[in-house]
Amino acid sequence: MKNVTLEKQAEGSVQTAITDPSRPSDFIRDIVATDLKANKHEGRVVTRFPPEPNGYLHIGHAKSICLNFGIALENNGICHLRFDDTNPTKEDIEYVESIKADVRWLGFDWQDKLFYASDYFEQLYQYAVQLIQEGKAYVDSLNADEVRAYRGTLTEPGKDSPYRSRAVEENLDLFERMRAGEFAEGTHTLRAKIDMASPNVNLRDPVMYRILQASHHRTGDTWCIYPMYDFTHCVSDAIEGITHSICTLEFEDHRPLYDWFLDELRTPCHPQQIEFARLNLTYTVMSKRRLLQLVEQEYVSGWDDPRMPTLRGLRRRGCTPEAIRSFCEHIGVAKRNSTVDIAMLEHEIREDLNKRAPRVMAVLSPLKVVIDNYPEGQVEELDAVNNPEDPGMGTRKVPFSRVVYIEQEDFREDPPKKFFRLAPGREVRLRYAYIIKCVGVVKDERTGEVVELHCTYDPATRSGGTAENRKVKATLHWVSAAHSLPAEVRLYDHLFTTANPDEARDFTTVLNPNSLEVLTTCQVEPSLASATPGSRYQFERQGYFCADPDSSPGKVVFNRTVSLRDAWAKVEKAQKEGSMRDE
Ligand code: ATP
Ligand code: MG
Repeated sequence: MKNVTLEKQAEGSVQTAITDPSRPSDFIRDIVATDLKANKHEGRVVTRFPPEPNGYLHIGHAKSICLNFGIALENNGICHLRFDDTNPTKEDIEYVESIKADVRWLGFDWQDKLFYASDYFEQLYQYAVQLIQEGKAYVDSLNADEVRAYRGTLTEPGKDSPYRSRAVEENLDLFERMRAGEFAEGTHTLRAKIDMASPNVNLRDPVMYRILQASHHRTGDTWCIYPMYDFTHCVSDAIEGITHSICTLEFEDHRPLYDWFLDELRTPCHPQQIEFARLNLTYTVMSKRRLLQLVEQEYVSGWDDPRMPTLRGLRRRGCTPEAIRSFCEHIGVAKRNSTVDIAMLEHEIREDLNKRAPRVMAVLSPLKVVIDNYPEGQVEELDAVNNPEDPGMGTRKVPFSRVVYIEQEDFREDPPKKFFRLAPGREVRLRYAYIIKCVGVVKDERTGEVVELHCTYDPATRSGGTAENRKVKATLHWVSAAHSLPAEVRLYDHLFTTANPDEARDFTTVLNPNSLEVLTTCQVEPSLASATPGSRYQFERQGYFCADPDSSPGKVVFNRTVSLRDAWAKVEKAQKEGSMRDE
């Protein structure tokens, strides 16, 4: 049989997707536009995406990536990819590589602007020395508990450490010896000398350096002191000449510190930090710590488990980069935290796959149907449309023969009201084929379960036949038993049973025990023999599915990306009706 190529899934160009003039602006794009107009940075726009290499990227990161790379692209600017790799105990080269691959997969290009904060360790050290020399940083020798006790609370000011008044020379000597590895972890820190009574706790002499006897994935054992995030981040931005340093809202209270370091150091460039609301999704946890826990405690099969909100997981599930970018565009960028309905993401995925995914027939829970009056041994090759949304995707041949499988749920021996599918004495159409009528039911003698149906077909109802337009109430998908291929299908549901798993005392207690259902006896049409991992399809009447890398030559494995039912469309419709009522 001719093998039709059903691949029409090339990932589109991000340039066209994001420079769409109809894209609405947002407060960050407005700031950038104003700065450009005022020639604030000589017309330059330089942004950065700064992941910590301590986990895989998730859909929340995608929001930040689309924003940072998007703004650069729209303004002839450039977006750097910078690894904020200052915590060697949690970081790994595996994460670095996965992050690079995932940013590329999402469709973005950092050109030659790949940086690592660890490349600035020497420069950072020199900047720290400068602050010590100017009396703006000191080596503290309180232990962690004492530091905490001296810090005060949100309502009470902190107290000065007894070491705060150390002389510059002593500080320089101690800091050098910290670097030389003379001290144990936890014995000393370098702190900025700002204000222990500041209402902003971030300004109460924040730690700049700590001793960590840990090997770094890039600098090896060169360092045993590591700079803290708040010190590293702003200085790295300044070194790279970033114009707009976009971060999430939890860093708003860190901005005065960001500015303090850059002002005190008189860096040649002072990037502007701008905060936006991070993405939260219902039925999803997004913190990397929690995602790591799901992986390590084997609640999921890995970072790329199709139930994970990671880019790897979404990709394996069948989601395209275009769908993710479109989602990020539609959720917008705001300054107030909120939670997005996961149905909206599913809606974007569906919209995207509807355009690109070829239709095929697959029976997930097969029920055997023998067509008694169809000639034994006869096979007809019927024409089936690959995508009604896109005639250019052509047609394929689907074999039809005397024994077919239909979906168990498409038959009821005793049909309830409004069940219009197959039942004894009833007629339905088999898609692209004939109208059949159920004339007999075979049951398992012991269990009473229906194991086989007998039907007759009406030869005149084939497409092109004299009764091709005869109406019946239902059209079913099917496969020819002699030609279909066995397949495994993995159905996914939300990973959590509650919309806000982060609110649970322990988020693992609200994991959905039924988030994965594996169907092992599915039968799919023969054209799917060529389904390579990553190929995406619409299984007619079922949903969108993607071939999994677990597929083997004898058995293709499919992941259900999303079902056809669009919960978001319903939400939108209800909202619309609600607002019409309000008017
Ligand atoms: P987590 O809190 O899950 O560990 P993180 O913020 O520490 O995440 P980073 O690797 O530091 O993870 O993130 C890199 C960038 O992505 C940061 O600029 C961060 O603000 C942004 N980011 C992370 N999570 C989200 C999110 N849910 N929505 C939008 N941006 C995010
Ligand atoms: Mg972070």
